[in-house]
Amino acid sequence: MLALTGTGIGRRVAIGKAMVLDRSRQEIPKYEVSQDQVHSEIKRFQSALARTRAELRRIQEEIPDHAPHEANAFIDVHLLMLQDPVIAEQPVRAMEEHSYNAEWALKTQADTLVEFFRNIEDPYLRSKKDDVHQVVNRILEELMIENDPPAAALDGNLAGRVVIANDLTPADAVTLHHRGITAFVTSLGGPISHTAILARSLGIPAVVGLHHAVQYFHNGDLLAVDGQTGTVLVGLDQTLLTEFQQRQSNQAKREQQLSALRNEPAITCDGYTVNLLANIELPEETDTLERFGANGVGLYRTEFLFMNRTEPPDEAEQYEAYRDVLDALTGPITIRTLDLGADKQVDGGRADGATKINPALGLRAIRLCLSEPTLFRPQLRAILRASMNGRARIMIPMLSSLSELEQALEIVREVKHDLAREGIEFDSKVPVGGMIEVPAAAIAADLFANRLDFLSIGTNDLIQYTLAIDRIDDEVNYLYDPLHPSILRLINNVICAGREAGIPVSLCGEMAGDPDYTRLLLGLGLVEFSMEPTRLLEIKERVRTSEREKLMGQTQQILECADPAQLRMMVDQLNRDGEQKYELVP
Ligand code: PEP
Ligand code: MG
Repeated sequence: MLALTGTGIGRRVAIGKAMVLDRSRQEIPKYEVSQDQVHSEIKRFQSALARTRAELRRIQEEIPDHAPHEANAFIDVHLLMLQDPVIAEQPVRAMEEHSYNAEWALKTQADTLVEFFRNIEDPYLRSKKDDVHQVVNRILEELMIENDPPAAALDGNLAGRVVIANDLTPADAVTLHHRGITAFVTSLGGPISHTAILARSLGIPAVVGLHHAVQYFHNGDLLAVDGQTGTVLVGLDQTLLTEFQQRQSNQAKREQQLSALRNEPAITCDGYTVNLLANIELPEETDTLERFGANGVGLYRTEFLFMNRTEPPDEAEQYEAYRDVLDALTGPITIRTLDLGADKQVDGGRADGATKINPALGLRAIRLCLSEPTLFRPQLRAILRASMNGRARIMIPMLSSLSELEQALEIVREVKHDLAREGIEFDSKVPVGGMIEVPAAAIAADLFANRLDFLSIGTNDLIQYTLAIDRIDDEVNYLYDPLHPSILRLINNVICAGREAGIPVSLCGEMAGDPDYTRLLLGLGLVEFSMEPTRLLEIKERVRTSEREKLMGQTQQILECADPAQLRMMVDQLNRDGEQKYELVP
């Protein structure tokens, strides 16, 4: 059995069969074919050779006339190599003599050839070993693709499948969810990447940042994925399998137990009411809100409407989407205006070849909307029109300066004016709030609070920008620290600014859905939390076992604590307080 660990997402466990999507990094299969299959195995090899040849010729034809002469010569070398007996004939002999499968027969012969080139003294000829690699990899790709084409994998039903990939974009995660995927594992990625957030929201257990995941697993391996600890097990024996099945059933029991809290109020022991809202990405998630008893939506990430398509949705399509969400739910629905950019590209960034060096610091969110009013205005019109169907709130992401805010507010005013002139109905009092997720805005939160109807703290980005760690880079994830004194002070500053301006402040980053931070945030004075719906009941349980007044005193000491280790211990102590005193569920 092999146990590998990355970062767990979603706290659930799942059992399923591996489906590896990164063919290029997969191990070359080695097996023996039966005597009567040798002939067809040789044919399979020869047809892969023919396809490789055809592909190289096609590439050659597409080389533009003005391309340097070397481009053609380079492909000629590869075409010649395809005819070399070591590549074209010796693998056939190895198949006949040892009954090797085609891939393995090719690999063994190619290794000999590479070794030969490696030992040549002339540096030019020695470098030819790279060409051998490239040609052999092309043939291998042809051979391996024909067995189980990875591109087709995403088209089928993925129930019972654990997809293993180098990386998945948020757009991929949406597709996988629609195909009924059981779990996924990626080599890259961190816990607050948008792909991870989406996995949590959609209830897909996942492990991200499991380095070289695609090399460890093979199609069809039975895997146990633990979203809580980040462990993936392969080659499980019956005992472990039973243990995992037991954990799945305990999980179901715990969920059942928590569901008793669904209609209970979120009130602290000393009588303070806390507003628990949900974050949604897809309109279909409104069903889940009902199940977990959310009071409304604190963050609707509308950019997901724009993904997996070539054209952005027009005003009419957006109007219908927002109207449906508003119709389906009674509480406030906070519709965040487009936050595209950085790791949220419509197609995962594949179509646009230009790679930005620092996309998280680039033309993202409100910056993109202000530079492209053709994206921003139809969205604002759609939200305002839909506001007749419920309690809509507009929320502007990633504000960093007041002038940006003033421009955005001016466009909102203009759009309202246009609608009124056209005789289209909308709620003229729709609250307009802003996300505080850039340190500059958190430090000057009072200035923003004076111009907005509400604030929402986006700790995912606030932590990324304050601590200078890329939220999707698993190599620096260890620095992601919601308890960093600077983060706690910024959160405190925003809550105080909201209180002084007399406007509500909510928190909609991942921190809001982690019960380890609930008491700390209550102590800082937060009374509105927005999170993935599946986290809601556990947070409610925490709220109902907390004494806010007492927490406020304890949290002041935490804010003043200069020693990070001691600070952590004080937070642990908050979480342990009253553990025996309160019964967790009624
Ligand atoms: C955040 O940054 O905390 C947030 C909620 O927004 P997103 O994760 O979509 O960037
Ligand atoms: Mg954000």
